[in-house]
Amino acid sequence: MSSEENKSLNFIEAMIEEDLKSGKHNGRIQTRFPPEPNGYLHIGHAKSICLNFGLAKKYNGKCNLRFDDTNPVKEDVEYVDSIKEDIRWLGFEWEDREYFASDYFDQLYEWAKLLVKKGLAYVDESSADEVAATRGTPTVPGKESPFRNRPVEENLDLLERMKSGEFPDGSRVLRAKIDMASPNMHMRDPVMYRIKHAHHHRTGNKWCIYPMYDFAHGQSDFIEGITHSLCTLEFEVHRPLYDWFLDNIIEDSDVNAKRTHQTEFARLNMNYTVMSKRLLLQLVKENHVDGWDDPRMPTISGLRRRGYTPESVRNFAERVGVAKRENTIDVGLLEHCVREDLNKSSQRIMGVINPLKVTIENYPEGKSEDLDAVNNPEDENMGTRKVPFSRNLFIEQDDFMEEPPKKFFRLAPGSEVRLRYAYFITCKKVVKNENGEVVELICTYDPESKGGNSPDGRKVKGTLHWVSAEHAVESEIRLYDRLFEKENPYDTKEGETFLDNMNKDSLKIVTGYIEPFIKDATMNHYQFERLGYFYRDRKITGEKPVFNRTATLRDSWAKIAKQ
Ligand code: ATP
Ligand code: MG
Repeated sequence: MSSEENKSLNFIEAMIEEDLKSGKHNGRIQTRFPPEPNGYLHIGHAKSICLNFGLAKKYNGKCNLRFDDTNPVKEDVEYVDSIKEDIRWLGFEWEDREYFASDYFDQLYEWAKLLVKKGLAYVDESSADEVAATRGTPTVPGKESPFRNRPVEENLDLLERMKSGEFPDGSRVLRAKIDMASPNMHMRDPVMYRIKHAHHHRTGNKWCIYPMYDFAHGQSDFIEGITHSLCTLEFEVHRPLYDWFLDNIIEDSDVNAKRTHQTEFARLNMNYTVMSKRLLLQLVKENHVDGWDDPRMPTISGLRRRGYTPESVRNFAERVGVAKRENTIDVGLLEHCVREDLNKSSQRIMGVINPLKVTIENYPEGKSEDLDAVNNPEDENMGTRKVPFSRNLFIEQDDFMEEPPKKFFRLAPGSEVRLRYAYFITCKKVVKNENGEVVELICTYDPESKGGNSPDGRKVKGTLHWVSAEHAVESEIRLYDRLFEKENPYDTKEGETFLDNMNKDSLKIVTGYIEPFIKDATMNHYQFERLGYFYRDRKITGEKPVFNRTATLRDSWAKIAKQ
């Protein structure tokens, strides 16, 4: 038994297994992922994608991709394309099952007429404000519209005229006739269609009335033969309406085999992160970030550009699991998942991002030699590479202290350290500029310590990364931090917005010096030794290569995750 099979089932898997056992849906499993193409997908969507496509895979079913494009004003083909790219990147395929709710507009309209004919829907000429004002509150019943009891013929005529474009936006709506006193506000004669004279990215100007989400979603599920319609918890209160529409529309004798059911699960919330598309759009539009794929964004495209791998995101979704109750996941878990994956797979190299000059005074000028370095200690199949060593090196400024505290095992005047894969060096002299800042270290090396091995058993505690100054490749290094400094970005003082909680230091751009291996290397992910994981940015094409820091090496989750 694999470890996956060993794991206990989540409540949705348990339900599916129950359904398979009882022969419901004739043993078919059909899910769907239904994004609205009004923005780029984010990590929350990734959870839903992994769930829907993952269940289909596990139970030999199919998962459809369906664009829920019922609101022409906010939707765009750019979003459709990005969504497809993101799902494919995550490793899922919908084959020929790419659907659009807009493909069903004709059928939906027929069903709207059917409900009118059954006396279950009516055209309301009340204004939006009047409709809102007469809805009541959860504890106070709403008031019935004066247009509620219009004859069927009149409703059919008005609906047809709404459709043919006779009336201006907002002047009329089609409402379901359910119950203005229902304790569930969604059942108080919900709007089914509104007038919008707007161009739709697929249907063009064919329609000027558009169905509401509630009147489109369940029916789309039904048309596609979805067996398990999974959505986030906020739709739980919509479920009676989902059922009401289907109950009143389906006239099929085989209704039970075809009937679709909605099941809700808790959405992914993550600290230090905003996830609503509306807010992400605001960050993009107001240029608080550099587009939807800014590596600080929680979008799938942002994570990709940051250097996240599909495996790491899928793993994260798996670890988060599905539950019925809302909670907030620590963003540290997501970072842990990418570290875990990159630790196994990524090429190690040395690079210095905050350089301090080191001159090895007993190493001949003009000489250089190639030393062997291990490409990945986690995977010996990745082999070794050559790293050039010479008289002029760079180390990190942080790795030197003129007056070190106890337990500082890096370089200090008179101390000896190991340069990784190279030699032991000792700091002989500190050179300062006129401001008293350290600008260079004069060191000696021990030729007997080649490879970083002690020649006589003497020990050094510190091992530093380094590059040969003349061989190193100058690069642009982008150091990312969290976009929000508050754990809960929505927690604001009066008069402030989530924007006030943005981390002003979420991006630092520095110049780094990387060992020359990078020049011809074709991989994208690297671990810069001791600095973190970096991803080659192929979008910014300047003279210098650009590397985005995916994550530092510090992992607060490593221990917790092992338990
Ligand atoms: P947002 O509220 O972030 O704007 P949305 O729910 O409006 O997102 P949709 O495009 O309608 O975005 O969502 C597509 C699917 O993804 C839906 O089934 C929705 O329930 C699911 N989904 C959206 N956000 C999350 C989340 N944070 N966690 C899990 N699933 C999510
Ligand atoms: Mg939505």
